[in-house]
Amino acid sequence: MSLALAQAIDETSLTDQVRQLVQTDLPPIVDAIDTGALYPADFMRKLGASGAFSSHADLRDVDLNPAIDAMSEVSLVCGSTGFMTWCQDALVWYIANSDNAALKNKLLAKVADGAMLGGTGLSNPMKSFFGIEKLKLKGKRVEGGYVVNGALPWVSNLGTDHIFGTIFETPDGEKVMFIGDCADPAIELLPCDAFLAMDGTGTYGLQFHNAFIPDDMVLAHAALPFVKKIRAGFVLLQAGMGIGVIRDCISIMQRTKTSLGHVNKYLTAQQPEDFASALAELADEVKALASTPYDASDAYWRRVVEARLQIGDLTMAAAHAAMLHTGARGYMKSHRAQRRMREAYFVGIVTPATKQLRKMLAEMAT
Ligand SMILES: Cc1cc2nc3c(=O)[nH]c(=O)nc-3n(C[C@H](O)[C@H](O)[C@H](O)COP(=O)(O)OP(=O)(O)OC[C@H]3O[C@@H](n4cnc5c(N)ncnc54)[C@H](O)[C@@H]3O)c2cc1C
Repeated sequence: MSLALAQAIDETSLTDQVRQLVQTDLPPIVDAIDTGALYPADFMRKLGASGAFSSHADLRDVDLNPAIDAMSEVSLVCGSTGFMTWCQDALVWYIANSDNAALKNKLLAKVADGAMLGGTGLSNPMKSFFGIEKLKLKGKRVEGGYVVNGALPWVSNLGTDHIFGTIFETPDGEKVMFIGDCADPAIELLPCDAFLAMDGTGTYGLQFHNAFIPDDMVLAHAALPFVKKIRAGFVLLQAGMGIGVIRDCISIMQRTKTSLGHVNKYLTAQQPEDFASALAELADEVKALASTPYDASDAYWRRVVEARLQIGDLTMAAAHAAMLHTGARGYMKSHRAQRRMREAYFVGIVTPATKQLRKMLAEMAT
């Protein structure tokens, strides 16, 4: 059997396994997650045990498609859990790409199989690297590590025994990427005010009070080249959130055909078939890009940014159309069309947000 064929079979069985778990375990808890009554730690651990977070932990012939497909299956049912899947996937991606052998030995397997959960606080750094805001965490070199102060407004998929990757700046302007441990009393988790959606995602504000970060928790002493290496993966993995939500919006629209097709047909260019063909085209582009996440060319990075922008735009457009197709039924709190709409806006505002992506494209050399 060829390697490509073996990989294709593996990818299919991972997607099937995740689909089965998602279809049985997620529907009964999706409303509790949406309202913030539940942070689904147990479900996330089960997802990890099914292999959903581990396909990109081994960097030999790395391909992000299995992770994106698994995330799409999760997001098909719940956008919040799809987002937490991305948080965990991004954390795996950071650790897998680190040259710090001690850190990898300590954490990679546990995070990849979901035994240890966590997330990523890269929104502020990603915005700072593109001239939108200043780095919020400051660190000073001390014996055996760094001391870090500052605050991050929102980091998701967290709890008291979770970890996260982020970046601080030293007084001489060096950027250092590291893993923070929520169990450290010097890292305070602050509850957030209610959001429009995503309240069950374990999202907290983080306050660092002279937190000591030992060298064995440093992902990269030179964060800038490291971020350049991982940035395409960071962005492309998010496609799974959007693709899953779009797929469900298409199915919501299709279901209205029997009772409302005679009037919904006037929603020109907003038919489920329109979204299905736009999604198929975009998914093909994501598939091609996700198979070469280390392509360092400017042309590749531009395509990644364009694809991510289109994912956000199509997710919000599909959710908007699903609302119009379902009408009053979808306007009821008991109907998932309104949940999908609230989740879709998150795809458009999570870093890199629509406006940041447009800024990045505007500033790229043509
Ligand atoms: C539910 C939720 C979960 C998130 N999870 C993560 C995560 O896991 N990791 C991560 O790095 N980022 C996370 N974010 C942040 C997210 O990725 C974006 O950075 C954020 O939505 C704003 O992006 P923007 O480009 O629109 O910035 P803008 O909205 O244009 O500006 C945002 C900046 O304004 C300031 N600000 C505005 N309002 C507030 C406020 N109420 N409290 C504090 N500061 C404020 C902050 O400096 C913030 O960075 C989360 C956001 C939300 C809403």
